[in-house]
Amino acid sequence: MSGAGASAVTKEDLVMNHLVRLSYREELSPNLDRFVDGLLEGKLVGQRCPSCARMYVPSKGYCPLCVVAMDESEAVEVAQVGTVTAFTVITPVPYYGQQQVDPFVYASVLLDGVDTPITGQDITGIPHEQVRSGLRVRAVWKPVEERDVSHISNRGWGGLDSVISSFEATGEPDASEDSYEEYAL
Ligand SMILES: [Zn+2]
Repeated sequence: MSGAGASAVTKEDLVMNHLVRLSYREELSPNLDRFVDGLLEGKLVGQRCPSCARMYVPSKGYCPLCVVAMDESEAVEVAQVGTVTAFTVITPVPYYGQQQVDPFVYASVLLDGVDTPITGQDITGIPHEQVRSGLRVRAVWKPVEERDVSHISNRGWGGLDSVISSFEATGEPDASEDSYEEYAL
């Protein structure tokens, strides 16, 4: 159109706002895949750095200190016994929605031959007041049909309490402090 009084409005692109949901299905990285397969079989599989010999459980597929990639040739099944390096006995404060009512232990366990403590583990077979750093413990696995690995992804593995119910005291003499002090966290 033309002439006096014609609209000066320009044509605009149509813009619509939509909420879109995208679901991604991502394969586990090879090292995590081996780790998860191991958990379902009751094994703990890590990787040993070929450069510094540190053992990672689980492994990220590389040694962050040496910046060395690791493959299946470095995969190793590790011990299921270890040492408590640090712990807290938590007495839950009642509040709405609180599920825990009894005191519980939150401990870090350094498996024999491993350089990465596993945090957030329950300690059983011993009264809470006797839990201590240096205590020797072994993994107690959940029954196969109760093991849940669905939360483990490439973005995080979220601990072991969905496959290992607790670490129980073995009754062995305590580990010497210098065997774990470097890992006390
Ligand atoms: Zn290394």
